[in-house]
Amino acid sequence: MSVFEMPDFDGHEEVHFFTDKATGYRGLIAIHDSTLGPACGGTRMWAYADSSAALTDALRLSKGMSYKNAMAELPLGGGKAVIIGDARKAKTPALMRAHARAVESLGGRYVTAMDVGMTEDDMATIASVTKHVAGYEQPGKTGGDPSPMTAWGVFCGIRAAVKFQLGKSDMKGLTVAVQGVGNVGYDTARHLKDAGAKLIVADVNAANLERARALGATVVATDDIHAVEADVYAPCALGAVLNDKTIPEIKAKVIAGGANNQLARPEVHGAKVAARGILYAPDYVINGGGIIRVCGQIYNWTDEAIRAKTERIGVTLAEVFTAAKAEGKPTHEVADRIARGRIEAAKTKKAA
Ligand code: NAD
Repeated sequence: MSVFEMPDFDGHEEVHFFTDKATGYRGLIAIHDSTLGPACGGTRMWAYADSSAALTDALRLSKGMSYKNAMAELPLGGGKAVIIGDARKAKTPALMRAHARAVESLGGRYVTAMDVGMTEDDMATIASVTKHVAGYEQPGKTGGDPSPMTAWGVFCGIRAAVKFQLGKSDMKGLTVAVQGVGNVGYDTARHLKDAGAKLIVADVNAANLERARALGATVVATDDIHAVEADVYAPCALGAVLNDKTIPEIKAKVIAGGANNQLARPEVHGAKVAARGILYAPDYVINGGGIIRVCGQIYNWTDEAIRAKTERIGVTLAEVFTAAKAEGKPTHEVADRIARGRIEAAKTKKAA
């Protein structure tokens, strides 16, 4: 199958393939849509089975970034870079510089950030070659780590979902089951506790569980967390946690958490969640605080502006929930449609 006919191609503006013989670098940069601004999305380094798998991932992730950035109302388009290789074995500073040259060659049409397989040190190496990089601690710029803002956005999103579904305007006395108390999950749990919620948590990492225990959280097994008696289930660890096995077991009336790609198969599992009367906060909307922070770093926004934009995640989610209820459609479908609509409206405005 050629690239243009791939189901995930979806009208991508640009797809670039890069190689560098000296370092063994093989990378792809996909720009899905740049109507709203320069395409922004992280670089992922992964030991893909073959280059087709890498291409499919780049295309899907870059389209996902177009939607995520549109829903966060950011002046950014959607793009993504993937490097083919095992980050633990094949990564060298020379390879990172080869990737940086690839990013630089696009002249700012793509701005990279951190994703799976990349570290702060890698980003600093990339930044020694190209200025089209953000989302890490940069000298002279505040707030590189996006996780705290992601967590604040998730908390704001949980509040909005609780208000819509349970008619409660605060979290006092509600129970939230947080799956994964890493960077995003722990900070989300802290905000929830401060707002008066009771916490149930699970994690595979003992140290992370300890700090959650210090918040007064009850710890349960990782296999049980989705099924506990709770008002809200907040997936903050892995993807594909909403699937054929878990959905019938969920007791919460709200699913709202920071993990990416929560629906195992969106076209099937989004409808299954909705059919059970559970309100699902689309993951790429509720976890947009991190990319808002990255965008703020690119455009030198103040912390107040970044925080205010992040808090709008609750407003956007309320719009999604209201439209989904009125149309009888799953929330993720409605979010996708609104994102596409925002990009198309900007295109029409530009063309006029
Ligand atoms: P992290 O690695 O800091 O935290 C993940 C936590 O989940 C860890 O504590 C880990 O031990 C735990 N975990 C792993 N397997 C588990 C299991 N089976 N059951 C329960 N817990 C398990 O990562 P993070 O940065 O907090 O990201 C969490 C999720 O949020 C990911 O899906 C990520 O893609 C998504 N996300 C993160 C950001 C961000 O700014 N960091 C932004 C958007 C989306």
